Amino acid sequence: MRRKLLLGNWKMNKTIAEAKEFALASKELADIANQHHIDLGVAPTYLGLEAVRTNASKSMIVAAQNVHYNPNGAFTGEISIPMLKEIGIDWVIIGHSERRAYDNETNQKCNQKIVALIKEDMVPVYCVGETLQQFEAGETKKVVEEQIRVGLSNLNAADVEHLVVAYEPVWSIGTGKNASQEIAQDVCGFIRGVLKDMFGDVAAEIRILYGGSVKPENIKSYLSCPDVDGALVGGASLKIDSYRQLLNNIL
Ligand code: PEP
Repeated sequence: MRRKLLLGNWKMNKTIAEAKEFALASKELADIANQHHIDLGVAPTYLGLEAVRTNASKSMIVAAQNVHYNPNGAFTGEISIPMLKEIGIDWVIIGHSERRAYDNETNQKCNQKIVALIKEDMVPVYCVGETLQQFEAGETKKVVEEQIRVGLSNLNAADVEHLVVAYEPVWSIGTGKNASQEIAQDVCGFIRGVLKDMFGDVAAEIRILYGGSVKPENIKSYLSCPDVDGALVGGASLKIDSYRQLLNNIL
């Protein structure tokens, strides 16, 4: 049985003080979510991670937005897996479309990071999704399949048991143009099929999220799709009231 998952991606928003304020206000929500068998989480900036980890409920998932695949070395500006583990962080978003677009995050690079995370018993949230141009050219499944096959290469069924995949059509992120429920189900179902082909029955255990302009008003429609197990939410996860509404609407 796959638990529902609501994960907020804060991107480059919130100071440490603001992250702490949100974390304290979210305490009661994590307990409510738990009672309803829903996993709740946020992905602050690196600087905000510790403030959220120490001030939010223990059951709140706290994810980094990126990581380097090397444990240390001459990689200016990067953060490593041991550094995250030291402050109690064991979830990391990998391959977000903004990183793919602005930071040359290729499928191969995502794969290096995912393999390194899984080796350390961490949970990658692997983001895939097509651009508007690819969507209009009818290439969604081709693009997503390649992202999955390359991004998850060199792994076996036991490795991917706790993996989370997020389908986020690039044209729907931060644009207010969310994909229809039908598109979300079609692509998430397709992703599960690719995972089954690669890893067998464990595909039924892997959580697949939809992301892209998810709001309190539309979250329920996505979570009613059989292959959509939750949502990765940007803008609507920033304010505690909106985050609370997202949760309330899927209880
Ligand atoms: C995201 O950042 O992953 C995202 C889906 O953003 P938004 O919800 O703002 O479209």
